[in-house]
Amino acid sequence: MQLQQLQVSNEAEYRELLHDITCRTSAFLARAGVGDGARPSAGQKAGPVHATQEEVVALLTPPTPAAEKALFAAADRVRRAAVGDAVHLRAIIEFSNHCERSCWYCGLRRFNRKLPRYRMTVDEVVEAARAAIALGFRTVVLQSGEDSWYDERTICTIIRRIKAISLPSSSGTVAITLSLGERPRAEYAAFREAGADRYLLKHETADPELYRRLHPGMSFTNRKECLHWLRELGYQVGSGNIVGLPGQTVSTLAADIGFLSELDVEMAGIGPLIVHPETPLGKLVERSNGKEAGLPADAVTMTLRTVAAARLLLPLAHLPATSALGTADPRGRQRALQAGANVVMPDLTPTRYRRHYEIYPNKICIFEDPSSCFNCLSRMITGLGRFVATDPGHSPKWQLPVGRR
Ligand code: SAH
Repeated sequence: MQLQQLQVSNEAEYRELLHDITCRTSAFLARAGVGDGARPSAGQKAGPVHATQEEVVALLTPPTPAAEKALFAAADRVRRAAVGDAVHLRAIIEFSNHCERSCWYCGLRRFNRKLPRYRMTVDEVVEAARAAIALGFRTVVLQSGEDSWYDERTICTIIRRIKAISLPSSSGTVAITLSLGERPRAEYAAFREAGADRYLLKHETADPELYRRLHPGMSFTNRKECLHWLRELGYQVGSGNIVGLPGQTVSTLAADIGFLSELDVEMAGIGPLIVHPETPLGKLVERSNGKEAGLPADAVTMTLRTVAAARLLLPLAHLPATSALGTADPRGRQRALQAGANVVMPDLTPTRYRRHYEIYPNKICIFEDPSSCFNCLSRMITGLGRFVATDPGHSPKWQLPVGRR
């Protein structure tokens, strides 16, 4: 109904809406002092880029293939103006696949008894990080299932030891992103104190009822509280959502973008659902023959549109071309890099463990050794006319004067 109010039933109207929103994005960038011809005005706060939920719904539903192309092209232009042609590589080390949760879509869920479980030792994690740094990575992402076996002291030890690794050609330190799930505030504080720079905690879906159904024993309220703590503690905050969940609609995706904007995230990971057969969702989808999804297009297409819309509304955010997208579509990561994304997060987990971090099946690059991975990605990035960043790639917002973040 709101869609009719907005009247984006044809391409001309869609282009008008797109133009309108990109003008707001350009105004944001000008206020922030970023981009072509930008003129920062003193003391003015940059954000956010304003769009109503109905506008975002309309943005996510281009009426023709040409309109969709225009959306991706606009996101690509904004990406270039806001964060440039550099692509940031983040080495992800998945150090434990034990998980105390039972999320309906994730292969790591505790009740998946078919999955061989592993935990890397502190030395193994530090060595994997050292290897990644030697290859040229300047951000290490430490990810695991929710595994309290790694207590506060253990994680702090890992952070301190990785932070102490000296970089070959600079006086800075490697950036550390943690992605360990929900933890008490005091632990987040201790990790930050030990030197962690960023934290990635995807909100998964901004529909509280859908969230509750997919995450037994968890709530969207708690998730939000964790994200607010991370913000208060001075982390660069990453969140994000899954696209293609059963029961999800375009309005849900617009709410996801609204949530990311409200939180003014430094990073947003947006990826398609990949059905895992050993999960309740896997069984459900099998039974319903895929009829559960409430989206107007397939998950890959909807993910690309969501990434593009996120770029327009959060122009300074780091947006990864996710591995899930690369798994669902062989050219998924390249397509995302040309529709707003500016980050790739290759898997640098030692190969003997890597295949067991099976959040979803058939993950890409499972057997690649780390050095060929770096070279392969460099080729992919230069092939798109872009280049690999050589710095830690902190949020560009961090480099703005405080009043204009
Ligand atoms: N324990 C951490 C890391 C979870 S795994 C945490 O809670 O943040 C990292 C991400 O994988 C999740 O945030 C989720 O968005 C994604 N994921 C899990 N299962 C998936 C699936 N089947 N398809 C697509 N993405 C999935």
